[in-house]
Amino acid sequence: MEELEKCQFGHRARLAPSPAQERLLDDQGHAARALWNLLHNWWTMLPKHRRTLAAADAAIRQARTDPEEGLEWLAVLPAQAAQAVLKTYFQAWRNCWEGRCGPPNFKARFRTLMCVDVPQGRDLQVARVHRRWGMVNIPKVGRVRFRWTKDLPVGKRADAGNRITGARLVKNALGWHIAFRVQTLEPVPAPHCGPHVGIDAGVKIPLALSDGDHQDHGRPRTSGGKADRDKWLTPAEKAKLVRLERRAAHRKSFRKPGERSSRRLQRTYDQIRALRATAKRRSLDWQHQTTTRLADRYGTIVVEDLNIVGMVKSAKGTVEAPGKNVAQKSGLNRAIHQEAWGRTVQMLTYKTARRGGALHKVPAAGTSRECHSCHTTTPGSREDQATFVCKNPECGWTGNADLNAACNILHRYRTGHALVPAAGRAVVRRARRVKPTTAR
Ligand SMILES: [Zn+2]
Repeated sequence: MEELEKCQFGHRARLAPSPAQERLLDDQGHAARALWNLLHNWWTMLPKHRRTLAAADAAIRQARTDPEEGLEWLAVLPAQAAQAVLKTYFQAWRNCWEGRCGPPNFKARFRTLMCVDVPQGRDLQVARVHRRWGMVNIPKVGRVRFRWTKDLPVGKRADAGNRITGARLVKNALGWHIAFRVQTLEPVPAPHCGPHVGIDAGVKIPLALSDGDHQDHGRPRTSGGKADRDKWLTPAEKAKLVRLERRAAHRKSFRKPGERSSRRLQRTYDQIRALRATAKRRSLDWQHQTTTRLADRYGTIVVEDLNIVGMVKSAKGTVEAPGKNVAQKSGLNRAIHQEAWGRTVQMLTYKTARRGGALHKVPAAGTSRECHSCHTTTPGSREDQATFVCKNPECGWTGNADLNAACNILHRYRTGHALVPAAGRAVVRRARRVKPTTAR
């Protein structure tokens, strides 16, 4: 019999609620946020010895049912979702005590991601109704359609091992989405026998491969400037973004200090946010498709171990010692940020592992200055950002700088410089536990 192992992943889909359903969802989102704030207020005012999970639970139950409290509006939130807020709040404190982040804070009406939990999978009753549409039950809202983009274990295909264990509803600038928690039993993959490849996050090409291939998204990539920031938008959308930003600045100029932004200004801000969210969705989609393709084709993928946070920080410098060429470097940094190299590596880690392959990291120092043909580092070898010219008189290799770096990365792995000894199954588990990303 084939060996099976448990897999857990998240899958995010766009909801298509009717206007009435959307209002109900908004109400639930605001109630969940308000409940968090009440809870935070209650928790921080209480003497330490009375701060317990049971006391918080009792306080929430009383607030929801007692008419004296004047919190009837909390009843729009299903009881399970209210419990989930408490659980998330408690976890936030645990994260703080264990040193992973700072203490939880109040959630502002704006600038906060609205979310509502549906912690139990059996409440959802997911069904596929069309090639592209599914239906899901949301407590106190009803049946809502969502985009069907992945085969989920529902109906006859659901059993103890393969099922949806819960969901979270999240609202961003493009509207409400549902993130399913899915659990499946998958056969343990056989080792992937595909070729080795080194990948470099290039300056001119998003991903340069050591076998001369590259993964491009066909979008302009200048370093720095507005064109770079909005490269995922079409020219028409870019023009619209500029117009909206100007309009927002104009409207804002009429606002007196301390005055609330007008409804029209808020609407302009929402439109800007929606365009940015569209750009982000497109870049995520490209990243998912590319990393899936790479993990399918190659058995071993080698990348350089970039300290992205450090790179971005060092350009700015400190007040005492400001960095040199801050503008140029911050252009480069923005490009690094935008290609979201860390996320690419994270996706490659779990996708290679799921196919029996592995991802390795090698030290990054000097990979772009060394010649991959004769392995010497000569001064002035980078003619410009795109071309590499070896100044060693016996070699003189000339070519694409990103390709050269990718070859160096693979060479370092082959000569035994890999940092992490084998990204086996343990790494996958860790990666999945940290963040269940949208899996393809
Ligand atoms: Zn050379």
